[in-house]
Amino acid sequence: MRHREEAICLRTTDYSETSQIVHFLTRGCGVVRLIAKGAKRPRSTSGGALDLLSEGDLVFTESRSGSLGVLIEFSESTSRSTLRKDAARLGAALYAIELVAEMLAEADPLPKAFDLLHNALLRMGQADAPVQAVLAYFQWRLLRHVGLLGELRRCASCGGEVNRERDTYFSSASGGLLCDRCQAGATEKVPVERSVLAGMVALAAAESGRRASLPDALAKGVNRLLAYHASYQIGKPLKMSRHAIQPMRRKNRRNNGGS
Ligand SMILES: [Zn+2]
Repeated sequence: MRHREEAICLRTTDYSETSQIVHFLTRGCGVVRLIAKGAKRPRSTSGGALDLLSEGDLVFTESRSGSLGVLIEFSESTSRSTLRKDAARLGAALYAIELVAEMLAEADPLPKAFDLLHNALLRMGQADAPVQAVLAYFQWRLLRHVGLLGELRRCASCGGEVNRERDTYFSSASGGLLCDRCQAGATEKVPVERSVLAGMVALAAAESGRRASLPDALAKGVNRLLAYHASYQIGKPLKMSRHAIQPMRRKNRRNNGGS
């Protein structure tokens, strides 16, 4: 069956001298994996090799069980020139698509996830964009959408109060913040500074439609925490995170403070 969908290019892999395997996030069909025959020839139907982050109109046939779908035509509709010229923007955008590629299952339609990515990439490409804040909001909303955002109001382990007046801990395995008592016994946890908690309060406010500002320093802290959480849940490091986000040191019992 043939489909026509709005799509964003998430990943490309060389398949042969002239072909690529391309992962797209489509609005109506979720993530699809397609073979782009002749994509690397200069005059292919898709207009040459496909670039990551490209967004446009995709025509494809879906895969039959286990095989790849086939890319028939792709025409780019959105220029990513501002995004591609600036290392900080590009790093954040490439991290965003890697997160989507790792987090979403194939052929599971999530139009909302498409809209989140579309909006984030559009905003990151604007000259005045607060890139770290846009990325933090994107991570927050995507994690919420796939049900991984976790418990951020009460202790994720016992349901008790979390003292927000001082630094606390977040455990990805427990699924959220931990109270003083529970954090003492947790083997997997990372410290969360008070400013990061404040950043998360701002994101929750923005999510419910209230005006909220997220200064760059807070956004960076939130991005670190959410990237740590996402990577823990996926079960592997996200390659692009080092271009967009400073990594977070995990604290556990075996950690002797050395590097
Ligand atoms: Zn607790």
